[in-house]
Amino acid sequence: MTEGENHKIIILAAPSGAGKTTIKSRLLANMPNKLSFSISAATRKIRVGEQDGVDYFFISEEDFKNKIDHNQFVEWEMVYPGAYYGTTVAEIKRIWNEQKTPILDIDVQGAMRVKELYGEKAISIFILPPSLDVLKNRLEKRGTDNEVQIKTRIEKAAKEITFSKKFDHIVLNDDLNKASEQVKILVIDFLS
Ligand code: 5GP
Repeated sequence: MTEGENHKIIILAAPSGAGKTTIKSRLLANMPNKLSFSISAATRKIRVGEQDGVDYFFISEEDFKNKIDHNQFVEWEMVYPGAYYGTTVAEIKRIWNEQKTPILDIDVQGAMRVKELYGEKAISIFILPPSLDVLKNRLEKRGTDNEVQIKTRIEKAAKEITFSKKFDHIVLNDDLNKASEQVKILVIDFLS
């Protein structure tokens, strides 16, 4: 995919439960005319409270594989066993066409892939949870995953944290307000 002069990409990555969703929502609410959330395609089941075409484009595995075959992804990953997630070329183009910058909320592998593709045109920010114990508590409180799923997410988080050094910036989320503000400053600086 070719990118124009001013086309940039913001990548937020974090283990699930690290506060990324809140930080992302605040950022979008703060700069609605500049930023737009890049809605990924995903094959996992839709959760209560989620909306198709808002949180994700929920599609079948067959449709997902068809998109892979037709080069319709900027990047894609099997983030969890059996669950595919991917950033579509169409979504990034849609946002650029609106003269906005996409925010990608994607996993660490996907983040590194996009950074590799876009270099200086992309900023990669890793949200670091204070500890794995805090992360486990947050996931238990959130109540969207069962015990086995939480275990899988914690194992994945431990692995992801080891890759955090490869990001342009690491923001520690021991205080949600502080972390949100730090991310906002990084983004404003990157866009100016
Ligand atoms: P969840 O199932 O909790 O919504 O998301 C699981 C993980 O998938 C999160 O870490 C999220 O950032 C990641 N993810 C969401 N969309 C994409 C995507 O398009 N590509 C990649 N590589 N990861 C994604």
